[in-house]
Amino acid sequence: MTFAPGKEAPAPARLTVDLDALADNWRLLATASGPAETAAAVKADAYGTGLAPAATALHRAGCRTFFVALPAEGLALRAALPEATIYVLGGYLGRAAGLYRRHRLQPVLGDMAEIDEWLADAGADAPAPAIHVDTGINRLGLPVGAARALSGDHERMAALAPALVMSHFACADDPGHPLNGRQVACFSEVRGWFPGVAASLANSAGIGFGAAARFDLTRPGISLYGGRARERDDHPVRPVITLTAEVLTVREVPAGESVGYGATATVSRPSRVAIVSLGYADGYPRRLASDGAEAAVRGRRFPLIGRVSMDLLAVDVTDGPDVRRGDRAELIGPAVPLAEVADRAGTIGYEILTSLGCRFERRYEGG
Ligand SMILES: *Cc1c(COP(=O)(O)O)cnc(C)c1O
Repeated sequence: MTFAPGKEAPAPARLTVDLDALADNWRLLATASGPAETAAAVKADAYGTGLAPAATALHRAGCRTFFVALPAEGLALRAALPEATIYVLGGYLGRAAGLYRRHRLQPVLGDMAEIDEWLADAGADAPAPAIHVDTGINRLGLPVGAARALSGDHERMAALAPALVMSHFACADDPGHPLNGRQVACFSEVRGWFPGVAASLANSAGIGFGAAARFDLTRPGISLYGGRARERDDHPVRPVITLTAEVLTVREVPAGESVGYGATATVSRPSRVAIVSLGYADGYPRRLASDGAEAAVRGRRFPLIGRVSMDLLAVDVTDGPDVRRGDRAELIGPAVPLAEVADRAGTIGYEILTSLGCRFERRYEGG
């Protein structure tokens, strides 16, 4: 973060992160994970919610294993949680063995050349890696054949001493997709080649596939943060983030006049328009205004009008005569669910969360 509003420079927009809801969501997923250990994916600044506060709250709830994407994220997490198990999903990056050793970052290795780099560099006291096997997503991970060959290479296996063998679903958000069952079956076979090594397959949505998909460790991300893991969620989680911003002014717009850039929206009646201090530079998608997006003010929802600008957006509050300057408008939160915002923007909650900017005040509740 290069810029942070604070006490001396108050921000009219605010991101509230409910750490109790986050902890509750983890407990819910831990229960749904049955006897499997429940980890947490905290990459990308804990999906935009803030790595240190989110991870600390998850740790307090009982989470002991965390997944980040990059070594820099692992470093920041290590500073917050000296004892946690930290896996780096990106693998062994930059051949920075000293860094991985010093901070006990466990690389998720998914390429034979990468495995050999790790074995050449890591040394005897190296943190135990995970082996990532690709069971159908064709992204990171050893092809199944290579994993089988590795498992029979006793010298390499003894040197690697992996703590985890894992794979990742391609279509977990679509429970009816036939690839899910094929991946479960394939991974069941793969994990058998690595006796005594813990196995992990399920992300948030995968936890809903039943005991056969849970193995020893589950790795939820989006559900922890109040996002929707799939179309119809069996485990409705609590909302975690609330994004609000101040109404800077309410203006009267005569019938026939337009609002905002491009004059794209013309009002057909004398209207009251609330100008709210939040824009696309804050991660609120620019295309939303033209897709029926709404904001909640004083407990009621009103439609956005005109284009979202960089720092501002407009809300038609003609039907809310009591709305006035200084009110807070909720753009995402309990009254305007994250999944709804994502659907309207033609994207997924993951992208909305990880696009949130740094210009608002961040307030942490609970935890
Ligand atoms: C991000 C990620 C997860 C968490 O996925 P969600 O869909 O957010 O639950 C789990 N495993 C891997 C490998 C990931 O990259």
